[in-house]
Amino acid sequence: MIRVIFLGPPGAGKGTQADILARHTGATKVATGDILREAVARRTELGKIAEGYMKRGELVPDDIMLGIVEETLKELPDGFILDGFPRTLPQAQGLDQVLEKLGVHLDAVVSLVVPDEEIVRRLSARRVCPKCQATYNLLTQPPKEDEICDQCGTPLVRRPDDEPQTIRRRLEVYRAQTEPLIGYYRGKGLLVEVDGVGPTDEVARRIRAALGLRSR
Ligand code: AMP
Repeated sequence: MIRVIFLGPPGAGKGTQADILARHTGATKVATGDILREAVARRTELGKIAEGYMKRGELVPDDIMLGIVEETLKELPDGFILDGFPRTLPQAQGLDQVLEKLGVHLDAVVSLVVPDEEIVRRLSARRVCPKCQATYNLLTQPPKEDEICDQCGTPLVRRPDDEPQTIRRRLEVYRAQTEPLIGYYRGKGLLVEVDGVGPTDEVARRIRAALGLRSR
């Protein structure tokens, strides 16, 4: 069983790699961005609050995010892989308290390292399935049929926050608010840095090696 956080800028491959590691280990991926996008699509109270922040590439307030994560982790005694949370120091500190309450601890924080130019290139080519949330990249991981989801046949879309201007804002927000978490987790002895550039399965192998997991 594993309890892991994926850290890294938008477009570093956190979601893709968290999916692969989840399949490999049986742990459940918890992607706060997916939870919020679903809430927006369903027009729930949470969705109505989150929508504006997401469109601008800003972060949804910490107390809201912590509430969501606490509720979710309570239901996951068999481990989890956090994708996109925590994103601020208060979220990381709040997560520490939640884990303490649950009587569990993190195994590792995987920091995916990818240069800015590569991120802008990847996000511009990213496409997602609005129905099942599968992610594709027109350059590196295209769907079998042009712009159609391999898994459910739904036409793929560009995420509204993957427009160039919003990408720049999300990168700024990442540098200012999320990057300091690298030092926070390094200080706790939990950080493992993994080169996120390269073929998806190669990066997945590096992650398993860094976590001391055997590859199949
Ligand atoms: P992601 O899919 O992880 O890139 O998240 C998309 C957007 O959802 C972000 O740009 C934020 O607006 C919001 N979001 C996701 N996770 C968090 C979080 N942990 N804290 C605040 N906002 C978040």
